[in-house]
Amino acid sequence: MERRPMDLDTYSEHAQNGPCFICCLVEGDPAYAHEIVYETEQHLAFLDKWPVLPGKLLVVPKQHIEHVVTDLTEDDYLAMMRTLRLVALAAEDVLGGERTYLFSLGSQDGNSHLHWHIARLPHGIPYEQQQFDALAFTNGVLTYTSTERTDLADRLRQAVAARATAAS
Ligand SMILES: [Zn+2]
Repeated sequence: MERRPMDLDTYSEHAQNGPCFICCLVEGDPAYAHEIVYETEQHLAFLDKWPVLPGKLLVVPKQHIEHVVTDLTEDDYLAMMRTLRLVALAAEDVLGGERTYLFSLGSQDGNSHLHWHIARLPHGIPYEQQQFDALAFTNGVLTYTSTERTDLADRLRQAVAARATAAS
């Protein structure tokens, strides 16, 4: 997979001055369409448009809430974790690699809608290039062809569905 430099100026401009991209996605605005791999009544999981690692995913609540813990009841927090775990397990099934990174960032100044990242660290990345270094936009972002993106989303969708069926 190719990498291209991340256009941080454009990204930051959209994040800080554009509408909430997650709410637009939930509302079905085609300008904010993403490859959705799993959906529940409360949550969506979809391919990150700016993947620093192959197959990187985001998992979000459909409702526009911002704080990762205080804006959720305990039950809603645990439901979020249940969805995150399910999608992360499916990502392991599909993507291989040696480690799963789960993290929630965001900013009140841009991308404030709560979102969890799922990133699989591939095998063979030198220690000093793992963890925060592996996640930095300064590495550039991977470019999927439309076929690669569709294929990846299909495989993840099937893996999550299989995990969800097994869990129910
Ligand atoms: Zn939102």
